[in-house]
Amino acid sequence: MIRRDPVGVVGSIAPWNYPLMMAAWKIAPAIAAGNTLVLKPSEMTPLTVLKLGEQLRELLPAGVVNIVCGRGEPVGSAITGHPRVRMVSLTGDVGTGQKVLAAAAGNLKRTHLELGGKAPVIVFDDADLESVVAGVRTFAFYNAGQECTAASRLYAGERIYERLVADLTSAVRTIRLGTQQEAGVEMGPLISERQRERVAGMVERAAAVPHIEVTTGGRKRAGSGFFYEPTVIAGARQQDEIVQREVFGPVVSVTRVSDASEAVRWANDSEYGLASSVWTRDVGRAMQVAAKLQYGATWINTHFATVSEMPHGGFKRSGYGKDLSVYALEDYTVVRHVMVKL
Ligand code: NAD
Repeated sequence: MIRRDPVGVVGSIAPWNYPLMMAAWKIAPAIAAGNTLVLKPSEMTPLTVLKLGEQLRELLPAGVVNIVCGRGEPVGSAITGHPRVRMVSLTGDVGTGQKVLAAAAGNLKRTHLELGGKAPVIVFDDADLESVVAGVRTFAFYNAGQECTAASRLYAGERIYERLVADLTSAVRTIRLGTQQEAGVEMGPLISERQRERVAGMVERAAAVPHIEVTTGGRKRAGSGFFYEPTVIAGARQQDEIVQREVFGPVVSVTRVSDASEAVRWANDSEYGLASSVWTRDVGRAMQVAAKLQYGATWINTHFATVSEMPHGGFKRSGYGKDLSVYALEDYTVVRHVMVKL
């Protein structure tokens, strides 16, 4: 018979962009599979997880879920370097993933890495323009774009390109920026001044490129928070920094493509491989393109449809290891073989 047994003590290290959800994604499959867990939330957002810990204390035996707060150095590295931690699960930056792997080499820990992303959005000429615009308006700017699957680089066919840029620009101008206490607000601030500077720097460098046009946004906004306007960048080309690097902020680029094979080639020309989407009325073409994309998820005529039953995780520098679904349970267990001679 085949058994799936727990790995042992799992060290889980989470980012700041969804404090409660990232904790849930890390805790649930690990303990469901019979492991114990030491969870480190991001130093930027520890309070949500501490509150969750208070609730869990009522529900779970002592020692099953342990929450330790602090920075990557020395607290995260103490978890990844500890000889009795058998597995490390990280959601974070590519550079942090590399450090975790190096630390895990010490006693050959199992690793589970969910790293960055730069999701391509392929829009064919026959796509339903209204739903593309509504979709990108939501899925590029959700959580102020601080989202590893954010719809961040659009590839648009020659015939839809101009209308897409115009309609998307108008739609993005209507996104209401503010704090969550204000009625009708759709987008909040960025996490920190450092993150806002990173976003502003990338947009400034893009705006200085002669073939690029910032059609809306591109500025910081005053207020009690690190606000940055939702931004659309038109005329971007494949080799531009804004197309190649993860912004992790409220910015989308739009690039013209001549046909499906160029769209697929450019979509796959990335260090990342987490999420992607294809927009067309032609289901056959959507399936052909989906088969060629090197991404952990491909959505057709939608984006960021993350559900508990389906795996979330990437390829290439986006890491490996799956969150959600039965695949997460597999990742947090060891396959064993027991044979009986009767
Ligand atoms: P980060 O890598 O800076 O930090 C993530 C976590 O790692 C934090 O808890 C941090 O303290 C810890 N850490 C840092 N250095 C460490 C070390 N040497 N050893 C052990 N732990 C260490 O990332 P971030 O800025 O919090 O989050 C943003 C990044 O996360 C983005 O690149 C984003 O794409 C990625 N992300 C990926 C997913 C996904 O599912 N693939 C989801 C959300 C965010």
